Amino acid sequence: MHNVIIGSFFVLFTLEFVIEFILNGLNIRHVRKSRAAEDIPEYFRGKISEDQYHQSVRYTLAKARFQQWSEVYGRIVILLILFGGLLPVLDDLINATVPQILPNRHFSGVLFCIVVGVVFSLTSLPIDLYSTFGIESRFGFNKTTVPLYFSDKLKTLILGLLIGGPFLFVVLWLMQATGEYWWLWVFAFITVFQLLMIIVFPALIAPWFNKFEPLANGELRERILALANQIGFKASGIFSMDGSKRSAHSNAYFTGIGKAKRIVLFDTLIEQMTIDQGLAVLAHEMGHYKMKHIRRMMVVQAVFLFIGLYILSRLVNYQPLFTAFGLQPSNHAALVLFSLLSGPFTFYLGPLMNLLSRKHEYEADRFAAITLRNGKPMEEALINLTVKNLSNLTPHPWYSAYHYSHPTPAERIGAIRQLAI
Ligand SMILES: [Zn+2]
Repeated sequence: MHNVIIGSFFVLFTLEFVIEFILNGLNIRHVRKSRAAEDIPEYFRGKISEDQYHQSVRYTLAKARFQQWSEVYGRIVILLILFGGLLPVLDDLINATVPQILPNRHFSGVLFCIVVGVVFSLTSLPIDLYSTFGIESRFGFNKTTVPLYFSDKLKTLILGLLIGGPFLFVVLWLMQATGEYWWLWVFAFITVFQLLMIIVFPALIAPWFNKFEPLANGELRERILALANQIGFKASGIFSMDGSKRSAHSNAYFTGIGKAKRIVLFDTLIEQMTIDQGLAVLAHEMGHYKMKHIRRMMVVQAVFLFIGLYILSRLVNYQPLFTAFGLQPSNHAALVLFSLLSGPFTFYLGPLMNLLSRKHEYEADRFAAITLRNGKPMEEALINLTVKNLSNLTPHPWYSAYHYSHPTPAERIGAIRQLAI
């Protein structure tokens, strides 16, 4: 039976790789074919210089080619971890030593999961380093220094241990202590935990990485407050964040729930946009809240979690699964195997989620245009963001349909122009 498990995993694993490879290859060819200045999409003519357009083509191609290599590398890593003998050796080593020091058996399980997680992070480090200091630096986006980069990694590791350790302990304890319906208990725990993190993150974790300052009094602040008031959007504060210390890419977001929501603007966004454009971006984000997109996405993810945990509950006592990877049956081994093996199965949910997400983006754009009684600022903000971020202006339609969580800028501008405002 374990041969069937390994066999079907390989088939799906290979299929996922082939699909990714073909889509990326199509996208590269499509971008190369449209690299001449006369291929600049209509809405961007006169808004992007020829130099900028060529730079955006080079940036897209550099990222896409590197993506091909990192796909291959990432897949070799997964295969090595699954079949290279690391998992059984690690499990035996931990079982032989840890119980003598820490008698509670869940400590061994937590340590097993954490070590596998750390091994994964270490193997992805070269990819991340090249992407940050190679590609992003070459195109002038990277502002991170080497010390800042490594202090970020260290902080992430410490947080992972401080939060992930106790989290895993509770999950493993619930799996063992609550009987047949443990997966319902774990589902309830993870859901509450996620809600708690939404509250804890902006107040305690984000300030460890960035400086947040209340947005200075002035026209921008006044107009954001007026906009929030007009929409009926309740927020506890508007902050400017020093995103520029890591990257020249810009952004704006909200964190928190209920009345404790914070509006956060990257300093790069404030610098690169006019006030009208910045307001359009915020109106768009507020639109996501007003139309309950965020809540809907959270519900969809909760449904996936529910189904995933149910499947895990069926597999946790299934001996051939463990035999296939040379492991003794245990809850912690089931958790690790499940997360390593699920990728090729959940891969196909990605495009469906992207479809829903793109629908939300159109709705939020529409909300912004109607709220401001003018589509122009949203349109200009999109053009500005696309040009400054050197985004791909000509993605292959299959590639964007599969991978893009946002419609292409040209699609979004087209939809805004169709509105009768
Ligand atoms: Zn959006």
